[in-house]
Amino acid sequence: MKKGKKLYEGKAKIIFASPDKYLVIQHFKDDATAYNNQKRASIEGKGILNNRISEHIFSSLKDVGIENHLIKRLNMREQLINLVDIIPIEFVVRNIVTGSLTKRLGIEDGTILNKPLIEFCYKNDNLGDPLVAREHIYAFGWASLLELDFITKQCLRINDFLQGLFKGIGIKLVDFKLEFGKRKSDGKIILADEISPDTCRLWDANTDKKLDKDRFRKDLGNIMEAYQEVAKRLGILHEQSNNIRPIKFPKPTEVKIKKK
Ligand code: UDP
Repeated sequence: MKKGKKLYEGKAKIIFASPDKYLVIQHFKDDATAYNNQKRASIEGKGILNNRISEHIFSSLKDVGIENHLIKRLNMREQLINLVDIIPIEFVVRNIVTGSLTKRLGIEDGTILNKPLIEFCYKNDNLGDPLVAREHIYAFGWASLLELDFITKQCLRINDFLQGLFKGIGIKLVDFKLEFGKRKSDGKIILADEISPDTCRLWDANTDKKLDKDRFRKDLGNIMEAYQEVAKRLGILHEQSNNIRPIKFPKPTEVKIKKK
């Protein structure tokens, strides 16, 4: 696939043109940012894992009828996707209270919600992605009432599906962020962006160990190990690359046996 010019560069991804005017190439970088860009780092191999994890999740969602931008993965870091006009809202779905919600409302970290909570944040780095009400979304024309109803239902369906998917591999889906866009070719609203440990909070079901970007946000270390663990449990860590180093076991001849 011939890569065209760079159309957009975000914090963790780059969008390139493709030979088809309705399709673009999404490239996953290793860059990580947190706290509205105040904390930055490059985590070697993160983009490769997020590409694989997001591809797996988006194609599983497609299989259950949730339309999304994924056409196919092209290589270790890139996917061919539908070109969309992104709706400038981050749809945050929560099953367990943590993160910004605990700080904002003083609710105890780890409180399990009776039903999923959906929050809307206006995508604007200069304003720090502020929380907005449904009314703001249609008052300012970011989406219509009908579109918002459709997206809200999609968010709940995606949450149901993903909760089950992760439960099956011993992971609690605590919360996550979704983005939707209007497909350029036909104007239909579809799921876009990515779903990965960068955009979800994933806790080990037995130990509550964090297997997501909170390891970076909170300086917990072993970020790549956590992302690899998620990929491994999803059953997608077969392909090897130069950037994802397999665990090196010594060859039998290298094993030094200590003589007594
Ligand atoms: N999230 C995201 N991008 C953002 C903000 C949040 O992917 O710009 C995800 C985040 O990883 C978490 C969920 O949305 O899974 C809820 O995040 P929260 O509002 O608690 O924000 P934070 O604690 O990161 O400030």
